[in-house]
Amino acid sequence: MSEEEGWAAVLARAGVPWDAWSGLVVWGRSGGLAELSEQVAAVGGCTRPVRLAGTVRSFSASTGELVGEYETGKGPAGGLLVACGSRHAGVCPSCARRWRGDTWWLVLAGMVGGKGRAAAVRSHPRVFLTLTAPSFGVVHTRRTGVDGRVRPCRARRDWPVCVHGEPAWCGLRHGEHDPELGAPLCAGCYDWAGLVLWNAHAGALWNRWSVQTGREIGRLSGRTAAAVRAAVKVESTRVAEMQARGAVHLHAIVRADSGRDPDTGPPAWLSPELLAEAAIGAARRVRLEADVPGLGEWVLRFGEQIEAHPIPPGADDGQERRLASYLAKYVTKETAAGLERPIGGAGEIPLLGVAPHVRALVGTAWRLGSLPGLAELKLRRWAHQYGYRGPVATRSRRYSASLAALHADRVAYRRQQAARTGDDRLAPVGMPGQTVTVPALRLSRIGLDAAGGWLAEQARTARDDARRVGREEIERDLGPDAA
Ligand SMILES: [Zn+2]
Ligand SMILES: [Zn+2]
Ligand SMILES: [Zn+2]
Repeated sequence: MSEEEGWAAVLARAGVPWDAWSGLVVWGRSGGLAELSEQVAAVGGCTRPVRLAGTVRSFSASTGELVGEYETGKGPAGGLLVACGSRHAGVCPSCARRWRGDTWWLVLAGMVGGKGRAAAVRSHPRVFLTLTAPSFGVVHTRRTGVDGRVRPCRARRDWPVCVHGEPAWCGLRHGEHDPELGAPLCAGCYDWAGLVLWNAHAGALWNRWSVQTGREIGRLSGRTAAAVRAAVKVESTRVAEMQARGAVHLHAIVRADSGRDPDTGPPAWLSPELLAEAAIGAARRVRLEADVPGLGEWVLRFGEQIEAHPIPPGADDGQERRLASYLAKYVTKETAAGLERPIGGAGEIPLLGVAPHVRALVGTAWRLGSLPGLAELKLRRWAHQYGYRGPVATRSRRYSASLAALHADRVAYRRQQAARTGDDRLAPVGMPGQTVTVPALRLSRIGLDAAGGWLAEQARTARDDARRVGREEIERDLGPDAA
């Protein structure tokens, strides 16, 4: 049997698809397969990594002497692979999962401790809060009755019509993935601009809510604002859910700490119930005015549907983990952030393969983006998120760690691993802070070929297995015994 036939037999046993064979055989023979699979694993099995070519040099911080050099072009990957970082599972399931996993950790750590927060935060008052957008007109919805059966969308006995002659009712029982869901019954009656402006101000409304919550705590407890500020600090993490109608809803975990230190609780008079009441009161009170020259005035506020549920302290029935999963799922939900990437020009909008009402929202944001009075909202930059500029998930500074801190942990771990295996490509020489790394890299290609794609799939499977084991360990650690 020739060498090539030997490889072919190995690959056939491994279930490698045909189109990946030739590349793997070539690398297998030249000895580069191990390096390629290592690089693919290092980017977490990303399906379309960015390939950078060039050199990375490390210099000693004290003497300026060159202490390490790595040239990317020499390896079989033809460059240094960097994960694409997409949050859209349809684009890169691997990177989307990483986003979701990181968000899960950061949300959970703020409730139970870890990632820099003490376990004591678990006894602080904590509230699960949902803030919705108001109505901008009647839209098609899917409703289920108490019996679980789907109800008619907008049933009306009198079959009314709007001023445009469009039916103001809908007798359909919409399917779960009906593209009509979220579309207005009449496009002429709908407040498209109001919705885009609301999205664009959701972050500012949240900031006002945050300040107002402190005032409400004072009002409800009969204390001055200054006394509350000295004794209590409210920390939170929030996630934006993009609804089918294109309006952002905010889901948050809110936690009260002492005024001086996030790891000690607030005074005993501040109960979880009082925190929940203050959060609701603040959400009902805050408002913003948007005066658009030539278009009119909008008063922006949260919708009627505001919910705040205290999270019982110490009652470990898995609720904290369920809440973390609930919030994390919005980070990678297909519609989480609207469309995948920013709109490049007005000509792209009619060609978008999306529901007509989504296209109308993108178009509205694009048009409003030309108004000088709204320049600071950068609506064209954010037209693909229907005006929403905020991050999909964010935290106040002391809620738990940051995504950047998690990323730094991961890099440090990889360097440790690299040092152990003698792989000097990414590992800095010496201790962090003692060397300066100067990359001189340019983008050479995006994506993997068939062979790299197959290796990425292997890396994902291996990681999913490892993660399942890890998840079981967490279940044990956070189980009733640990509470
Ligand atoms: Zn990716
Ligand atoms: Zn309908
Ligand atoms: Zn109408």
